[in-house]
Amino acid sequence: MMASGAGDGSRGRASDGWAKDVTAATDLMSIRGLEVRGESAIRIGDAELGLARTQDGDRVVILAPDRCPALEGLEGEASIFQGRRLLIGPTNPRNLSALRKLFPWLAPRILGLHSSFGFGDRLGSATPGHVRALRAASVPLAPIFAQQSIREMERTGRDATEVLNDAAWGVFAAGWREGYGADADHLKTIADVDACLAAGYTFFTFDPGAYVDGSADSQPAHSVRAALEDLPWKELDDDSRRMFDRYLRTVLDFHDRSLRFDEDGIARAAVKYGRAVAHVAVLYRHLKARGADAEVEVSVDETETPTTPAQHAYIACELRRLGVEWVSLAPRFVGRFEKGVDYLGDPSAFEADAASHAAIARRFGPYKLSLHSGSDKISVYGALARQAGDLLHVKTAGTSYLEALRTVATLDPGLFRAMYALARDRYEEDRASYHVSASLERAPSADSLRDAELVSLLEGFDTRQVLHVTFGSVLARHGERLRTVLRAHSEAYEANLERHFIRHLAPFEMLRPKTAP
Ligand code: ZN
Repeated sequence: MMASGAGDGSRGRASDGWAKDVTAATDLMSIRGLEVRGESAIRIGDAELGLARTQDGDRVVILAPDRCPALEGLEGEASIFQGRRLLIGPTNPRNLSALRKLFPWLAPRILGLHSSFGFGDRLGSATPGHVRALRAASVPLAPIFAQQSIREMERTGRDATEVLNDAAWGVFAAGWREGYGADADHLKTIADVDACLAAGYTFFTFDPGAYVDGSADSQPAHSVRAALEDLPWKELDDDSRRMFDRYLRTVLDFHDRSLRFDEDGIARAAVKYGRAVAHVAVLYRHLKARGADAEVEVSVDETETPTTPAQHAYIACELRRLGVEWVSLAPRFVGRFEKGVDYLGDPSAFEADAASHAAIARRFGPYKLSLHSGSDKISVYGALARQAGDLLHVKTAGTSYLEALRTVATLDPGLFRAMYALARDRYEEDRASYHVSASLERAPSADSLRDAELVSLLEGFDTRQVLHVTFGSVLARHGERLRTVLRAHSEAYEANLERHFIRHLAPFEMLRPKTAP
């Protein structure tokens, strides 16, 4: 079933109906030599389960009477503790699927129109820190803990299932029982959709960016009219005459603005986004045909030219006409959304733009207005919340990776120096598919810095971008050591993530329901 529109009940709390039969576990915490995370420890029936940190990584721990049904399907080393069976097992897919049968909140779910926040995690170990920030900020945003694009999966060497499972283990470790989504981000092909469907994602972000013709905004009118005739009209189930008829008759009235289409504007919108619309319809029909319980986002954010309000309205009208349903849409907003740094542009121009896009999203959905490359765009979050209200979605990803690097800069300066040097070597090549403007001249080598000064590299505009876009190269060479350091210092890593994401989440406090005086 597709979640869409208001009135499907999806605005309820994610945890409704769950967590009735479980209570906090206490006996697990008293097993000597086992460092069970307090938030993870849970009691169901007469079994206690939790996640322990060990030198070799996390282990799932179960303490239960013999033949307790909770033990079913779990594997690990068994012993006897105070007359009960103690099982200590790996955090592997088999144990995860056994736990998901006991605790349904370990599987991702549909979020519908609930405002949401994407915590992309390239390392697969940030979820407990994200949960801490979410709890501390107490904002009404449903989290998406698994969110990775195909490009990121290729560069981190993790597949769709690993990304999903890592997030689920993080959810278990942190004792998060409020539900979460899983975003198969920036899917471009049917093969991408299939890979993420098989893994169990719930949120599918379709990216038809390769089919967007940004030149349509600046071409002379006669070239636009010529290009119009070349659109895939059959796939669009349309022709140019019918299209003009539909739009030229239309004036869209919003409560505080109206939108009228003119012939040139429609032609440019169709040439720019027509093929993209057709491609989204292809991906959508494929997803529907597979009968998946999934929701859809449409994203055209990774393109050169901003999506005008009229173009956004065109995309929404056409997708609806073709039977596509979606819960959020990411236009390309005005200004620059570069990786790892705050918004570049005039925040008031962004707010005016967001106001128009939000009005369209309410009129043609309602659906959520989605802001991508949201890492560190803290100066425009307030504007987004004011304009989109409780119909918004934000995606972040690389900024969590930078918090991992901040942790390493303090705790293993030698490793950080090696990673930064490699990042500088790789920057010119690795930046190719990203929106960044850092220059290596402004990101000098770390040779002249004392160890205590290394962390300042996480504050500079250029150095942040250099570190941000080179994650694939850096993880390929230093990933194992980086993960070992983070495991050994998980408290410091989580504290850094918590502090950093409280800043990201605070602007959304205005979405909290007002309590009656
Ligand atoms: Zn994006």
